[in-house]
Amino acid sequence: MATITLPEVDAQETKKSTTKYVYFFGGGKADGNGKMKDVLGGKGAGLAEMTNAGLPVPPGFTIQTEGCREYMRTAATSKEVERQMDEALAKLEGLQGQKLGTGENPLLVSVRSGAKFSMPGMMDTILNLGLNDKSVEALAKRSNNPRFAADSYRRLIQMFGNVVLDIEKASFDEVFDAKKKQRKTKYDTDLTAKDLQEVIVEYKKVVKKHAKRDFPQNPREQLVMARDAVFRSWQNDRAKHYRRINNIDDMLGTAVNVQAMVYGNLGDTSGTGVGFTRNPATGTKEFYGEFLMNAQGEDVVSGVRTPVHILELHKIMPEVYDQLREITTRLEKHYKDVQDFEFTIQDGKLYMLQTRNGKRTGLAAVRVAIQMVEEGLITKEEAIFRVDPNQLYDFLVPRLDEKSTKVEVLATGLPASPGAAVGQIVFTADEAVKMAGHETTKKPVILVRAETTPEDIHGMEVAKGILTSRGGMTSHAAVVTRGMGKCCVAGAGDIDVNEKAREMKVKGQTFKEGDWISLDGTTGRVIKGKLGTLDPSPDDPELQKFMNWADPHRKMKVRANADIPRDAVQARAFGAEGIGLCRTEHMFFGEKKIPHMRAMILADNEKDRRAALKKLLPMQREDFAGVFKAMDGLPVTIRTLDPPLHEFLPRREDLMVEIATLSHADAKQKKELVKRYADYGANGVGDLKKLLPTLLARVEQLHEFNPMLGHRGCRLGITYPEITEMQARAIFEAAVDCTKKGIKVLPEVMIPLVATLKEMANQGAIVRRVAEEVFKEKGMKVEYMVGTMIELPRAALVADEIAKEAEFFSFGTNDLTQTTFGFSRDDVNKVLPTYLAEGILKQDPFAALDQDGVGQLVKMATERGRKTRPTLKVGICGEHGGEPSSVEFCYKTGLNYVSCSPFRVLTARLAAAQAAAAETLKVEGGRTK
Ligand code: PEP
Ligand code: MG
Repeated sequence: MATITLPEVDAQETKKSTTKYVYFFGGGKADGNGKMKDVLGGKGAGLAEMTNAGLPVPPGFTIQTEGCREYMRTAATSKEVERQMDEALAKLEGLQGQKLGTGENPLLVSVRSGAKFSMPGMMDTILNLGLNDKSVEALAKRSNNPRFAADSYRRLIQMFGNVVLDIEKASFDEVFDAKKKQRKTKYDTDLTAKDLQEVIVEYKKVVKKHAKRDFPQNPREQLVMARDAVFRSWQNDRAKHYRRINNIDDMLGTAVNVQAMVYGNLGDTSGTGVGFTRNPATGTKEFYGEFLMNAQGEDVVSGVRTPVHILELHKIMPEVYDQLREITTRLEKHYKDVQDFEFTIQDGKLYMLQTRNGKRTGLAAVRVAIQMVEEGLITKEEAIFRVDPNQLYDFLVPRLDEKSTKVEVLATGLPASPGAAVGQIVFTADEAVKMAGHETTKKPVILVRAETTPEDIHGMEVAKGILTSRGGMTSHAAVVTRGMGKCCVAGAGDIDVNEKAREMKVKGQTFKEGDWISLDGTTGRVIKGKLGTLDPSPDDPELQKFMNWADPHRKMKVRANADIPRDAVQARAFGAEGIGLCRTEHMFFGEKKIPHMRAMILADNEKDRRAALKKLLPMQREDFAGVFKAMDGLPVTIRTLDPPLHEFLPRREDLMVEIATLSHADAKQKKELVKRYADYGANGVGDLKKLLPTLLARVEQLHEFNPMLGHRGCRLGITYPEITEMQARAIFEAAVDCTKKGIKVLPEVMIPLVATLKEMANQGAIVRRVAEEVFKEKGMKVEYMVGTMIELPRAALVADEIAKEAEFFSFGTNDLTQTTFGFSRDDVNKVLPTYLAEGILKQDPFAALDQDGVGQLVKMATERGRKTRPTLKVGICGEHGGEPSSVEFCYKTGLNYVSCSPFRVLTARLAAAQAAAAETLKVEGGRTK
């Protein structure tokens, strides 16, 4: 097991102090309380708080998070932890009148993880601990149910084997499935006590074979091993992934909760269930949840039996139901938030096992926040912090309609790319294309793979959604689908995908090609069958109301990155207050423009280049006019051409192959080649013979070994000033034309990749000269600004100089991250997964701004720029402009605006409002975890 070494000083300091490691709860009193989440973890703090409030909680003790941190440092548990744990165990045994795993009425306990921030399902749990060959008999007698006792014991061996002894779950499943097969039965519940006893014998053999030791019969040994395994589970891959996604500190550690078991499967007056005080999917104020009589917690969530709606409990056990309602209502009022609770009824007596603030969808979060303000539970200011800015995305992508059919969750993976997808399963990319068709969607398909590779891209393109059983948030599937805006659930480990056999197995069910499934990329759920979908609802009145509460707190503007009028309109609808980046190169990819763009690039003299540019001019002007119109009254930042020119031409390797094959191509191939190069003026094979070598020569000339650092950005406009001239002319002609039509235009011309004052001065002079020419020709002036992107470390260092010429700065943090780290934006994923797994980087610096490094440059450039020009307008237009922690940083650094993709505008607005409100209001919380 890998351990993390902490600095010596820390280790010594903690050793010296007399730490209280173990906190008892039970008998109406707890050592800790609800505020001690750092120490006791969320679950432990909740148990303490509930115990102190006099709620029926099975007693136990919490071993605090320092125990886990110590374990991370030393790979061992200290003597003091052992001593305090034994003391607490003795107290628990005394209170219960039982002994752990011994005697006629043995004490059995659960051992569960519980970190400060809830990490559902990420770490490990062991139930029924204390059972052994002897105590299983005692349990059988006491419950008068030998089957239940044997089942509890086999579950313990399985969980213990898997979690503590690292034996694959499949090794136990094989034994269990073989027994079912032998008994010709489908359901676990059909196996008798005798069958289960035979399973136990086999399970023990599995343990012996894989762990090279016997299943421990000594209950204390079981406890010690389970405790340490829970500590270790803090470091498992799932937990690490979860922390990374949710920005949770790796050093917090988990607490371990040891609690007396209560059983929901002791007969018809026992049961177990889970619930929420309000509907976590929709936010509706209703008692929501499900339960099963005569069952254990696992049965409720595993889907072996179908749970019953919680309202039914009222009919079966009205008093218990009333008590549960009373307790959970009280808990909600106490915590002033939706509670997610677990309960068990043992022999007619209700026990609360857990309560915590319930995770909810973005829709529910907004709705509940509004309800709670209306109910007087929280203030409007507090409400702003009840929604994670990223959750607002839920309003903008399709969602599953969970009312249309019964929802059977097959598995939960990582919410890799939000939204919903419903379709028929296919297991290969080729099959996806076959079924879905290329152009028209014949059939909606979900591509299911163990993991995707770049070779699956054609299938991913046509699929409605992607499901993988392996891989994390930066896996190929996750990264690609996010870029495509397509729903993806990744790393759903419970699903066994067999691509060869074209089937997947989950929860004992087999799904074949053509079967329907539904994916929820926002929560990571994989659902059986064909659910309906709901359209996005950006106009939701409650969302508007919520944003109307949040927006007044915001001091920073939010703009959008948009290149075409359609996106600009969309961005404005989401509340964008201008365009922060219009990447003009995207305009050139249009069907009508690309031939002229290519002609411009292929021109080997200024005259020909100007001729091609002349053709582009009216089209550019039209594009700019469209964007100005969409943004009437709001500023629009237009960047002059940035990318290396080879991006507009065919790949060098392809050209080489095509030249080589042209001589022996058949008629059909030749026809295809002519078609492919029609844009370059090819009408027949004769043209190709001349064209291809010419093209190759130019491509060779333009070929970049380091495309992102070469002939691009302002370097293009400096070497080919006529490009900047044409773009400036298009901008100002469009600006004057629009102004004449009554549209209020505020153009900001932005020069990319500037490193020196002279570069800025050179390009600024061209823009200003052309502006004057156009104004003279058209007899009208328009207000405008010329500024620069800060995307090179040198630009940040000499920002005071550059600000002499630049009237505004916009941080291009995509390039600034690339150039500061020396990472390539395009292939950082070769190293990133390892860097994240090793903890070398905490987050992907291209997703969340590296505040310590790149952030320093942003801060320095802002300060230096404003020293020269106190009124300097400063914004950000890299991807980080829509990421909440980066938005908060930009606010604190004093930026005037952030600019992000249209779909992240809402997120940025809320993040900016929270950042400002957190500073002025004394509200507890901050971004919800
Ligand atoms: C940037 O570098 O952050 C930026 C916005 O420009 P681009 O992504 O187009 O390089
Ligand atoms: Mg850039």
